[in-house]
Amino acid sequence: MEQVKIVIAGAGPAGIATAVEAKEAGIDPVVVCEKAGHLCDTVVTLFHEGKRVDPVYRKVKVEPKGLLSFDTESREEFLDRMERVVKEYGIDVRFRNEVQKIERQDDGSFKVITGGGLEFQAPVVVVAIGIFGKPNKPSYPIPKEIKDKVFFALPKKPITGKKVLIVGGGDSAAEAACFLAKENEAFLSYRREKFFRINEVNMCALDDYSSKGSLTLMLGTDIEGLEPKDDKVLVHFKDGRDMEFDAVFYFLGGMAPSTFLEGIGVECDGRKPKVGPDGESNIPGLFLAGDLVLDKGSIMGAFNSAKDVVDAIIAKYGDKVK
Ligand SMILES: Cc1cc2nc3c(=O)[nH]c(=O)nc-3n(C[C@H](O)[C@H](O)[C@H](O)COP(=O)(O)OP(=O)(O)OC[C@H]3O[C@@H](n4cnc5c(N)ncnc54)[C@H](O)[C@@H]3O)c2cc1C
Repeated sequence: MEQVKIVIAGAGPAGIATAVEAKEAGIDPVVVCEKAGHLCDTVVTLFHEGKRVDPVYRKVKVEPKGLLSFDTESREEFLDRMERVVKEYGIDVRFRNEVQKIERQDDGSFKVITGGGLEFQAPVVVVAIGIFGKPNKPSYPIPKEIKDKVFFALPKKPITGKKVLIVGGGDSAAEAACFLAKENEAFLSYRREKFFRINEVNMCALDDYSSKGSLTLMLGTDIEGLEPKDDKVLVHFKDGRDMEFDAVFYFLGGMAPSTFLEGIGVECDGRKPKVGPDGESNIPGLFLAGDLVLDKGSIMGAFNSAKDVVDAIIAKYGDKVK
């Protein structure tokens, strides 16, 4: 079993920033366990190629508190930035090592076990696994015959010349709709009469694509269910309309991986884990950072929550980690 000062679960913006802040505060060794084979899996898998990454997200401007920040740049530039950060600060990331168990020992330290077979002992653990591991699904079933035409993220290979439906009312849905409207006939269905969570840039882009005619906004529409029809997906709307699509994309947000958190003993209030203002959970020494604890998650929010967590670790457990 490796002895380290802090184990961080997740190498997304929050996990990387936690490692950076901890190392700069003189805490060593710090190890980051990441379930994917690369950094920032949410950005890699859910952001489309060339996507603009904005520090002001969901209309919230967050002033940097810690060492990491960024200006608007592309997805690829952002990922390069994070690679550089990891190199520059010498962050020890163990890829393909999903944290599966975190057990409190009799002496108050934690034993962390990963899917890749690693075991660590540490006085402090920071869980920064985000909320996107499990995208929210609609309440109605997706028939198995159309599972290959129903998506919860943009597909890796570009799709062109199709009639596609995007479902959702946030920035992710708006960005996906605009991206798909470039090469397809796109429809965006949102159950409310008005968008109220979308930032200005995305709102303008939606207006632009809908005025060009490649995107149809279907506000105030709710879906009752899906059905296979020939090679298409037949969508039944609650207003009685039926429409056929080649593919349907859901962007309904994510949910806190409460099963994982509850499994390690973290108390949750519904889907949200209960934490103090410094990110510490009900288990002393076990902190949560990033999207898991933020009401309006963003990359800058994740960077800042990492700084808060490390400040709290030093204040409360300085004797154990230094
Ligand atoms: C489509 C889309 C567009 C967005 N655009 C923007 C934007 O322009 N600007 C902005 O500020 N924000 C944006 N966001 C939000 C932003 O992506 C999140 O707020 C941010 O990624 C949160 O960082 P995090 O580190 O908390 O979680 P994540 O980025 O989700 O990182 C979690 C990491 O933990 C890993 N992990 C999960 N479970 C385990 C486990 N058990 N063990 C080990 N590793 C694990 C994952 O593989 C992942 O790498 C967008 C989100 C989406 C979905």
